[in-house]
Amino acid sequence: MTGIADTPRFSGGQPIPLFATFVHPTAPQRVAEVLASTMLSEGEQVKAFEAQLTEQLGLLHPAALNSGTSALHLALEVAGVGVGDEVILAAQTFIASAMTIVQTGAKPVFADIHYANGNLDPADIEHRITPRTKAIMAVHWGGYPCDIAEIHAIAARRGLVVIEDAAHALGATYRGQAIGGISDYTCFSFQAIKHITTGDGGALCARDPAKAQEVFRRRWFGIDRAHSPISETGERQYNLTEVGFKYHLSDYAAALGLANLTGFAERMAHRRQLVGQYREGLQNVPGLTHFEHQPDRESAHWLFGFHVESRPAFMRHLHAYGIASSVVHDGIDRNTLFGGKRPDLVQQRRFDETQVHVPLHDALTTEQVAYIINTIKQGW
Ligand SMILES: *Cc1c(COP(=O)(O)O)cnc(C)c1O
Repeated sequence: MTGIADTPRFSGGQPIPLFATFVHPTAPQRVAEVLASTMLSEGEQVKAFEAQLTEQLGLLHPAALNSGTSALHLALEVAGVGVGDEVILAAQTFIASAMTIVQTGAKPVFADIHYANGNLDPADIEHRITPRTKAIMAVHWGGYPCDIAEIHAIAARRGLVVIEDAAHALGATYRGQAIGGISDYTCFSFQAIKHITTGDGGALCARDPAKAQEVFRRRWFGIDRAHSPISETGERQYNLTEVGFKYHLSDYAAALGLANLTGFAERMAHRRQLVGQYREGLQNVPGLTHFEHQPDRESAHWLFGFHVESRPAFMRHLHAYGIASSVVHDGIDRNTLFGGKRPDLVQQRRFDETQVHVPLHDALTTEQVAYIINTIKQGW
């Protein structure tokens, strides 16, 4: 067995980071071509990027946007969520999920999670539904799909819309179906450290074709680009009937996204391999409990996390050996804007105390994972 001392603990003198931004080697050339063309805004590159998201990843009617947050906000708007409405979501997410609900004038209502994986617990939803509830927003924590069937059953019974915050879940599948075509709306992020980056960017998939058309209009001020010819006097011909936003993606960003889609399947396979190595190597480690994984869904493996006892000591131990670790996010309900920390979220509060994530990204090697495993197995 390789001893800790023999293992390269740093890559290039730096600690092993939790995340790394992936930029494909062909990206500079592709972006340079768009810059040289001077056609920078939304155009052919965005169309091609959307087509590839469907072809390679099975996304349904993806509309490329300038952020994942824009995708969440636009989904809520198109779903008709507004002032006085309520949206049920888990607190184990990034603030963007609840912030966009507040932006519409609606109220985020937090439901509890499964301690075993950080995802919304369907059993804690129904008693929180009121006549004002319009939607359920489900984040796939770390890329591991939620209990979508159970959530859909509640939504169907109670007449609610389902919005997936799939910012972590590009490439995940649920019962054989790609995330991005299952719920009424699915939102992705192409922010710097997500699976695919466009610098900043996102995508919104609406299942209903009419709603998808509305998404395409409202991402650009509510103007139907395809059916608003430029008049003789040089202005597009349109008559606004709905509130729109400036949420479209730009062509130079889409060119970066197209380059980064190259070899996506291989990169996912690499992540799967590293996660397999972690799980195998971290079996029966005292004080460490793995997250639950069910065979009917496959994670996009954006994060690799688990629960640990004595978390501060665990994190200090890893830090001393040049390994980053992080909770990534604590329950967001604690923010005053969202109403403050809720004691009724019992599993969320337990999760806040024990969850932790260790490095998982495209540049991570099997040697580094072996080193991280050895370091954890030393104890903390
Ligand atoms: C990254 C992220 C978002 C927001 O995406 P942006 O592209 O940064 O706007 C939303 N929800 C979750 C869970 C995220 O991790």
